[in-house]
Amino acid sequence: MYQTPLPLEYASLGEDETRARIRAAKERLGERVVILGHHYQRDEIIEHADYRGDSYKLAKDAGAHAQAEFIIFCGVHFMAESADILTPDHQQVILPNLAAGCSMADMANNFQVQSCWKQLQAITDVSKIIPVTYINSAANLKAFVGERGGTVCTSTNAPAAVRWALAQGEKVLFFPDQHLGRNTGVRLGYDPLVDMVLWDPFKPLGGNTAEAIQRANFILWKGHCSVHKRFTVEQIEKARRTYPGVRVIVHPECELEVVQASDENGSTEYILRQATEAASGSVLAIGTEINLVNRLAKENPDKTIFCLDPQICPCSTMYRIHPSFLLWILEGIEAGEVRNVVRVPDNIAEPARVALRQMLKVL
Ligand code: SF4
Repeated sequence: MYQTPLPLEYASLGEDETRARIRAAKERLGERVVILGHHYQRDEIIEHADYRGDSYKLAKDAGAHAQAEFIIFCGVHFMAESADILTPDHQQVILPNLAAGCSMADMANNFQVQSCWKQLQAITDVSKIIPVTYINSAANLKAFVGERGGTVCTSTNAPAAVRWALAQGEKVLFFPDQHLGRNTGVRLGYDPLVDMVLWDPFKPLGGNTAEAIQRANFILWKGHCSVHKRFTVEQIEKARRTYPGVRVIVHPECELEVVQASDENGSTEYILRQATEAASGSVLAIGTEINLVNRLAKENPDKTIFCLDPQICPCSTMYRIHPSFLLWILEGIEAGEVRNVVRVPDNIAEPARVALRQMLKVL
């Protein structure tokens, strides 16, 4: 979807006026709108959110406000699509900036996944392969999974979702994040060198031999998160040298060796809970998006909380949700002009809903 340029009257507003007008518009709209803010959003967006969470929590929160006409999703495109699929038809889901996508989600598209499936069909019994897509994927890939008896997973429920999938079949096709897939498989006791193959969508058979695929339990799509890929073992070693006794917690979208060098790994909600519940005086080095880590540090002044990579940039696509876009959306609704509605067509939404509901069942 294409984002039209923000009108100059919004783009040129100062921070204080934007904030004041967002508050006023939200107040006037009352229960007609609910604003959801992903943890990786900047503080200037989070301060207006009725709910904050990771993609799993927000997918559930989106369904809890049946009276709201508009759900304004301050996150990225695949999250708004999931919210639209899970909410009733009378609710409209809005993404304030349609250019807010996810580079990881873009690493697997419908054409590539269909082609992968056809190639697998030629060398193995695909009825024994259960597709599992990370929630960070387009709606048509969730539909692909729903049509084939698979499930969506999140970083919160990935181990349970993969365990469930392996109980339905013999193999899992996991996309688009190879790291979450690999870390989950290792957590469940599988050997990354023996039980897993990597599927490169630009190579025949994903760059594997038919025998290797036939032997494997996990076919991992060659995708990654550009934010979490930046964390390294060297950063962890440096943090341990600088702060002996530091507790290192990383997100499972990080590479396997980083996860193995950490003390714990878990979803964004898990990281948030650990930081909040840690004893006063604790020192925590975190491997996830910088906006969240800085917020945790600010909200827990009695602890030392820092990002493993101080140079890390924020998730650049999340960052496209600027407060000016939020204001443009809210004032548009007041004026009767509903902008940036994300609507998934029924033929995609129905099978995708099957896979998303399966995700909500598995914990
Ligand atoms: S942090 Fe990574 S996975 Fe999450 S939205 Fe940004 S690019 Fe996508």
